[in-house]
Amino acid sequence: MKYYEYDTDDMIAALATPWGESAIAVIRTTGQGCIEAISAVFIGKKNLDKSRPYSMNYGTIKDPGTEKKIDEIIIGIYKKPRSYTGQDMAEIFCHGSMAGITEILRVLRSIGFRDAKPGEFTLRAFLNGKMDLTQAEAVNEIIKSKSIKAMDLALQRLSGTVFSRIDHIKNLVAEILAEIELQLDYSEDEADPEASLDKGKIEKAISLLEELSFSYRIGKIIQDGVSVVLAGKTNAGKSSLFNLFNKTERSIVSEYHGTTRDYIESFLLIGGIPVKLYDTAGLRDSDNPVEEQGIKKSIEIIEKSDIILYLIDGNVGLDNDDISWISSLDPNKLIKIWNKADIASEKSPDDFINISALTGKGFKELEEEIKKRIGAEKIEISDSVVIDSERQKNLIDEALKALSNSIVSIKEDMPLDLIAVDIKEALDNLGEITGEITSSDILELMFSKFCVGK
Ligand code: GDP
Repeated sequence: MKYYEYDTDDMIAALATPWGESAIAVIRTTGQGCIEAISAVFIGKKNLDKSRPYSMNYGTIKDPGTEKKIDEIIIGIYKKPRSYTGQDMAEIFCHGSMAGITEILRVLRSIGFRDAKPGEFTLRAFLNGKMDLTQAEAVNEIIKSKSIKAMDLALQRLSGTVFSRIDHIKNLVAEILAEIELQLDYSEDEADPEASLDKGKIEKAISLLEELSFSYRIGKIIQDGVSVVLAGKTNAGKSSLFNLFNKTERSIVSEYHGTTRDYIESFLLIGGIPVKLYDTAGLRDSDNPVEEQGIKKSIEIIEKSDIILYLIDGNVGLDNDDISWISSLDPNKLIKIWNKADIASEKSPDDFINISALTGKGFKELEEEIKKRIGAEKIEISDSVVIDSERQKNLIDEALKALSNSIVSIKEDMPLDLIAVDIKEALDNLGEITGEITSSDILELMFSKFCVGK
């Protein structure tokens, strides 16, 4: 027995807003007969089933057994096929009382509704042809967005940008397959010995797919963000720089060594990209077991961070410990900072960014360098299609593999029917991305990650 009901439009209901006290809560319903069913427990100026589609209807909802009024509500009515799910829908806007919500859901169950499973409204929208799978995934990606940039990109995907791009590539691949099939249709003696496959089309499809596959990395950064860690010896100015980033006094700033004994983290946006910033314990040998623990933790964080800001106190300069730390860190992740530029007695080496965490001098330059490392300028390209789904990325990579195989086969003069197998496989992979070809297992896996009520 499958988790979701696939070929039914039975009546389902779910709370679409978070469970808790709130000003207003929304209970969403859909399915054949849902408007008529709710009409029987609704007291308003007119019967719900007589009200105009896309209207808001003020009234109360009652318990059909006792006739007791439960809550004052507004109900939005949507008629099929012009609704989110493609079926009749009714959305109940009630007071955000947990007791009231529980009662309304109980009444709905008593008149034939069942509780919706996670993502079941969007699943129905997909099954009823209201959206393809890339758009369905975009719905979830919008909800999970942690930055405006992530949200903008997910909104673009909801409008069908990934679908159109995949469709375009699919047409290219289908044309190649048609060409092969045409050539295969000729009997051997009729075959044109000069006829050769247009590799250009396959190469074009490969380059478009490579672009999409690469965009996943960007999509992930925008959605999940990057981690940036402040490292360096005690007193280098890490906490001061942490505060400058946060523009608040969230970190401990002290003149004494070893005060940031554990780590502190904060969330901020740099160039519109979500950043998790860590302030760590100063890196130095310590006999204090608490401080030693803090330093161990710092090393762990430094190792797993995407970007390491290594600070030097410009008034003290580099020593052997710094040099050995710096040489042990991944140069692709490392940004070297010469702090206390306002009072620095030592001149910085060329590859250091001079800043003053106290006055803010050089901070803009540092931000620019971080943006460069994150790849924020690539992310600025607004007309590029960026994917954020691992499922889509895996299928794109599969299609790429199949198309690359076909190029090798063409070069090696392999028989056309063998090449056709690879091309067909790529076509199937692309069809799976949009949901043209799909299995119930894939749908279960995908929609179970959604919120209830979406
Ligand atoms: P941490 O141990 O690396 O976290 O260093 P702190 O941020 O606690 O700074 C140590 C001391 O250096 C404090 O007294 C700060 O006020 C001072 N400090 C930090 N950055 C600067 C700077 O850019 N210029 C000056 N003049 N003092 C700074």
